[in-house]
Amino acid sequence: MNIHADHRYAINLNVRGIQPSATLRINELSNQLRSEGRDIIKLGLGQSPFPVPERVVEALREHAHEKDYLPVKGLKALRQSIAGYINRRERMKCDWEDVLIGPGSKELLFILQLAYYGDLLIPRPSWVSYAPQARIIGRSVHWLPTHAENNWQLTAEELDIICRDDASRPRILILNYPSNPTGCTYTDEQLLAIANVARKYRLILLSDEIYGEVHFEGKHKSIARYYPEGTIISTGLSKWAGAGGWRLGTFIFPPELRPLQDAMAIIASETYTATSAPIQHAAIAAFDGGSDLDEYLHHSRRVLKVVGEYLHRRLTDMNVPTQKPEGAFYLFPDFSAYQEGLERHDIKTSPALCNTLLEDTGVAILPASDFGFPPDKLSARLAFVDFDGAGALALSGGSYSDKELNDDFIDEACPRLKLAMDRVEDWLIKL
Ligand code: PMP
Ligand code: GLU
Repeated sequence: MNIHADHRYAINLNVRGIQPSATLRINELSNQLRSEGRDIIKLGLGQSPFPVPERVVEALREHAHEKDYLPVKGLKALRQSIAGYINRRERMKCDWEDVLIGPGSKELLFILQLAYYGDLLIPRPSWVSYAPQARIIGRSVHWLPTHAENNWQLTAEELDIICRDDASRPRILILNYPSNPTGCTYTDEQLLAIANVARKYRLILLSDEIYGEVHFEGKHKSIARYYPEGTIISTGLSKWAGAGGWRLGTFIFPPELRPLQDAMAIIASETYTATSAPIQHAAIAAFDGGSDLDEYLHHSRRVLKVVGEYLHRRLTDMNVPTQKPEGAFYLFPDFSAYQEGLERHDIKTSPALCNTLLEDTGVAILPASDFGFPPDKLSARLAFVDFDGAGALALSGGSYSDKELNDDFIDEACPRLKLAMDRVEDWLIKL
């Protein structure tokens, strides 16, 4: 049957022809292959390897009975807790009313684009979902040029060049750091320079800081310090509290953007109503913080740093250069040194590279094409999350508490990551 001839299949043209999100597809494919008995090393989906901190889980248990619909913008006590968290971290003075809670920051990003009529500006590479969200809503996407020598980071100059053509055009710029997919972050000087351009063109600056707490040195700073009147901070529980599946995200608005926040709340009220009540109650424990959470974050960062550095070293030694990560749990390796060998196997694109690698070695990673590059760019994203996070935290705080984490730690805590590197190396040698 020709589905296009049947009006029951009159799927919105903005959705027709696009696939479910790459991160979720690779996860489901990896799980399916595992269930068929294949030994898959899952470096595709970027899911925190660490468990939700025990006190936060306990808070969820205590609030399992909460059954009422909550206010659209979120539970007041949670909004207060998040305002306090941001003020502590960023030395800002935001108010609980500046906070909006949603079922994941991904959903908030989507309703932001629905509520605001403007072009989307994103650096190349960027996380897989920003551009498809814009496409679904029918907004234009402008990929901002970046360069490998500059860690694929946006510069104030390039941003200015794009904006100056049509200076008063409404635009949303998304800046995500530490970055998914590179693990790199921006210096204060870079942030200040970008903030100045954003102010010049009155951009809405969506600062996606979902990996802020997993900056390896705990030194993340928000660009909101430099462009407070136009910056929305986006964060949540998914990456630093191991709670991706809980689906809780938050935006913190400047008072100047209250009308935009209100417009998003109208959309929320007509769609998801409010975020899950027990989850919101439990999230207060996470955002209030405490010495146990400081300890949890200290060890999470220590583990991610040593793992990121180990993988960076292994890949560099294989002649697969990658930026040295400074936060989050991603690397963006460049396989182009193997172009000739890959072509001999008819591998000319990043999707072909990732498919063949998965088929031959069981190592699942995502192609650069999912992050905004043309298919012939032979890079990929590796999410270094296939290890037992609880075990790694216990080792870091136990037998390694007074010594440096090293290769022995990797052997003990992350054997599958080492195995992934051995398999990739072997595969490349044999090309
Ligand atoms: N931004 C980035 C850069 C991400 O990697 C993710 C993936 N979790 C999100 C936003 C969305 O996170 P969540 O919806 O779980 O808050
Ligand atoms: N953000 C994670 C990633 O980039 C996964 C979750 C998602 O994409 O929604 O892999």
